Amino acid sequence: MSEIAKELRRDIARPSWTANELIHKAADEIERLEKENERLERAAPVIAERDRQDAKWGYPQLHSLTEWQTILTEEVGELAAAILAYLQGTDERLELAWQKEAIQVAAVALAIVEQFPFTKAALREEEAT
Ligand SMILES: [Mg+2]
Repeated sequence: MSEIAKELRRDIARPSWTANELIHKAADEIERLEKENERLERAAPVIAERDRQDAKWGYPQLHSLTEWQTILTEEVGELAAAILAYLQGTDERLELAWQKEAIQVAAVALAIVEQFPFTKAALREEEAT
């Protein structure tokens, strides 16, 4: 149960809260959950891309920060090229191409976040080489 839902349940017992105030709080909570759900739906392709990357490269993907920087920059370059092609072209399929690259950029960034618990070890490995 979310904190706001818990708060709402506590507030119902308070005589000082009007029904309208409670309805407004409930509406705010519904709005927050809808926004969160929309964000999760939009992130689903990024998660699917992470799964594809794990199937291809294994999990966890442990790289030094320099290697991650190179991988992410390569993906950002591909996104830039795809956006340019889309802006200069007339082929509607180019829209899907730049969106696919944007998903790959987000997935690589997520892989970097997933490595946070291992980052110090990865840094030590980088310093040793
Ligand atoms: Mg790419």
